Amino acid sequence: MNLSFWGAARQVTGSMYLLNFDQDYKILIDCGLDFDKERNEFENTDFKKENGFVFPFEVTEINLVILTHAHVDHSGNIPNLIKEGYEGQILATQPTVELASLLMSDSARINKIKLNAIHGKGKKLNPKTMNKLTADLYTDAHVRESMERFVAIGFERRFKVNENLYITFYTTGHLLGAASILIEARENGKWTKIGFSGDLGRFNYPLLKDPQPFPQVDYLVCESTYGNRTHEATGSPEDVICEIVKSTLVDIPGRLIIPSFSVGRTQSLLYILNKLEFSEKFPSIRIFTDSPMALKSSQIYEKYRGHLNKEAQDFYKENGSLFNFDNLTYIPDLEGSKAISNYYEPCIIISSSGMIHGGRIENHVLKNLENPYCTIFMIGFSAEGTVGNKLMTGANYVVLKGKQLEVKARIEKTDIFSGHADLKGLMHFVDQQKNGQMKNLFLVHGEADVMEDFKKTLTWNGFENVTIPEWGQHFELV
Ligand SMILES: [Zn+2]
Repeated sequence: MNLSFWGAARQVTGSMYLLNFDQDYKILIDCGLDFDKERNEFENTDFKKENGFVFPFEVTEINLVILTHAHVDHSGNIPNLIKEGYEGQILATQPTVELASLLMSDSARINKIKLNAIHGKGKKLNPKTMNKLTADLYTDAHVRESMERFVAIGFERRFKVNENLYITFYTTGHLLGAASILIEARENGKWTKIGFSGDLGRFNYPLLKDPQPFPQVDYLVCESTYGNRTHEATGSPEDVICEIVKSTLVDIPGRLIIPSFSVGRTQSLLYILNKLEFSEKFPSIRIFTDSPMALKSSQIYEKYRGHLNKEAQDFYKENGSLFNFDNLTYIPDLEGSKAISNYYEPCIIISSSGMIHGGRIENHVLKNLENPYCTIFMIGFSAEGTVGNKLMTGANYVVLKGKQLEVKARIEKTDIFSGHADLKGLMHFVDQQKNGQMKNLFLVHGEADVMEDFKKTLTWNGFENVTIPEWGQHFELV
């Protein structure tokens, strides 16, 4: 039995692990888009790379795919897997299936624009270059075929794949439908338990259930995103929103712009705003959600409200909705989007992407960044190189859509809406394991220096066999 790491190895994107056991039965755990492809060189697979393949291994040999959750860095490469010949099924929880469908369709829409641009120059390109350029640009047809392969599995149900393989999903509280996975695999009569944390969420997070207890395993693959830090924000999300609204929209006649991911983060934010609408202290201000994806995602959240926490379920029972309230307007089209950028009264504009890297948010920031009455409120992680990251790290100037802008708007940030466990949460997850029984703990999904810090903390806490795999590295599981 062996496990190889084909993504999220000393980086946070591209989650993808291959488990091989019982005479070449191969399971791919997650199949995420890698935003940092340059770092990963295919090992001994020059032919594949040269010919524009996305995956460094033979896709047709895989027997089963399992997804932890729908975020594109975990699921976004599924249609490319189909494109390269994968013929098996994909196991995931029901909400993950629907959210993944939404996200993959959106990627296919963007791919279509890119493909049209490439084919526009087609006559000038040789076939090899064309292959490379279009390798990972899947289409709607690939997404449709992917959806036919999904098999939805409930949480905490031990699902028998065959007599040598059982899969169980456990709630992680990171995103609707997000799961840690327990794989029980038998080889030569011996059972081995392998755990994959997926992305771990937080306790008491708006809408989502708390992470559930995870059973004892022989090997654990654990995320490390915040393996060396503790979330700073204190108080409740309601307190944080009240304070920012008061200082930016009540004390001054301002405009509050919140870059936010459409799937997950925006729902948490809208739910908090919805709850605040019932408070007399909260001012009556217009709120615009400018993202078609956010609307669809909100509908999926309501459809699967049985997977949300009790408070959210009770709120829905009482009010008939989680995300619709009087002052909220969803903006469906680009015309509406342009109109609200200069809305004349104090208002909140929520739009994606959360990193200010593509999406309608770019126009709102473009029009408002040089306005000292405007505040940009960063509520999530922004990768290096994005405008969001530059604003969060105090840049005085940024370039957006080819235009240099002076940062005159107020920039604020909070980690209260962060969807990832911090060091305390990660330790809570790992501490469920009896150290003597766990043969190896593999750290993934983190920057290299963060992982080294996390490993040190784990070692101080008595975990002896902690490994930080490199991209493409194989490990025998004995
Ligand atoms: Zn995630």
